[in-house]
Amino acid sequence: MAPSLSPIRSHHVAVIGAGAAGLVAARELRREGHSVVVFERQKQVGGTWIYTDHIEPDPLSVDPTRSVVHSSVYGSLRTNLPRECMGYRDFPFVVRSGVSESRDPRRFPSHGEVLAYLQDFAKEFAIEEMIRFDTAVVKVAPAAEEGSGKWRIESTEKEKKVLRDEIYDAVVVCNGHYIEPRHAEIPGISSWPGKEMHSHNYRIPEPFRDQVVVLIGNSASADDISRDIARVAKEVHVACRSNEADTYIERPGYNNLWMHSMIECVHKDGSVVFQNGKTISVDVIMHCTGYKYHFPFLETNGNVTVDDNRVGPLYKDVFSPAFAPWLSFVGIPWKVVPFPMFELQSKWIAGVLSGRIPLPSKEDMMMEIKTLYSTLDAQGIAKRYTHQMGISQFEYNSWLASQCGCSETEEWRKEMYFATGVKKRAHPETYRDEWDDHHLVSQAYQDFSLYA
Ligand code: FAD
Repeated sequence: MAPSLSPIRSHHVAVIGAGAAGLVAARELRREGHSVVVFERQKQVGGTWIYTDHIEPDPLSVDPTRSVVHSSVYGSLRTNLPRECMGYRDFPFVVRSGVSESRDPRRFPSHGEVLAYLQDFAKEFAIEEMIRFDTAVVKVAPAAEEGSGKWRIESTEKEKKVLRDEIYDAVVVCNGHYIEPRHAEIPGISSWPGKEMHSHNYRIPEPFRDQVVVLIGNSASADDISRDIARVAKEVHVACRSNEADTYIERPGYNNLWMHSMIECVHKDGSVVFQNGKTISVDVIMHCTGYKYHFPFLETNGNVTVDDNRVGPLYKDVFSPAFAPWLSFVGIPWKVVPFPMFELQSKWIAGVLSGRIPLPSKEDMMMEIKTLYSTLDAQGIAKRYTHQMGISQFEYNSWLASQCGCSETEEWRKEMYFATGVKKRAHPETYRDEWDDHHLVSQAYQDFSLYA
């Protein structure tokens, strides 16, 4: 007897953004039978991986009227995950033979190789035909007909100066979250005479030649950029909130790079005082302090808010219960392996929209979210860490995979992620060029042969 088919419904879906999240969302939605329009305000796919020399006119990126430069990628950036681990599950990030010499075959390649990979992905799955480039979404709001579940999207297409006002059944938000900087609060900063900037506007070390620079933060960016700048700067000091108050360590292999505790205060004579008691005269303070989730186009009557960097309420970091399943987000979790997670989130959204995968009731989704928030509160975890996953990402991926009826994260990928983390912490200088997880690479390539 033929298996009975559930009635699959096709919808008209808007995807906002054609970065790594939007590209795979578009592919999965179309695979599921939906009609898809992707809005992308840049001229090409790739999002944050589109490196540009341009920086924003306001080096701290606080002016709300500034012209936004999307990418935060700096010239020397190489991936912090090995390519086998980083790629989408069914489109391995392997070295492509027979393509241009400008490709970077290294295991932890430069940003240009990631962009080329995303371009390959878009080409392989003919995604560009769904994308409206140069088109910025300026407003997303529930359509006027109360309870219709539909969304009104206003967009502007720059060169043609076209304004569009359209109705969609569903919206998938994939606008990235490394655009709107967060800053450290520094006592005395208003009268400090030096230059302040955010790492969002860092590209190359040359402007820092012979300067004394303080970087604030303990992210991958602070780590990379401090070393980059130390090649030309007079002195580089990294201040970090999570370091013990008496921290003062010279970085091995450098004679001009030090780790400190956090900045205590700054003075109008240009000096910076650290909690460890050291005082130095400083030219530049660079905030490597991360970013805020920001959805300037989204109007939800308070049903989705950003509160101390918690986007909520969101069920499983994806669906807004108030609007489910017609409003969803791909790419909210951080401290994760992003591309394969985006792929699973997108499959889930596509299947839920078509009615193939059930969602709990709004009440049950809200109850689960409230339980999560109470647990975080009870553990003393600040709201801004709500979407940090780390080790729990694989349990989350397994849950998504079970919903979608697809295979779980490969064991080699998990082990590679952990092995890379260990190696990065132990050998931050060399982990991108020296490794010993060869057996995991072999296992990855065995899997990849399925997708040849
Ligand atoms: P983005 O790539 O930011 O794409 C969002 C897209 O939405 C953009 O193209 C943007 O133009 C568009 N958009 C935004 N607003 C609008 C609007 N209103 N209208 C129309 N279009 C809009 N990940 C890794 O896996 N490995 C790494 O080594 C790694 N290193 C990183 C280093 C840095 C410095 C940064 C910032 C991130 C790094 N990441 C890394 C994480 C990276 O952000 C993700 O890999 C991934 O690229 C995020 O994709 P996304 O699609 O969510 O966002």
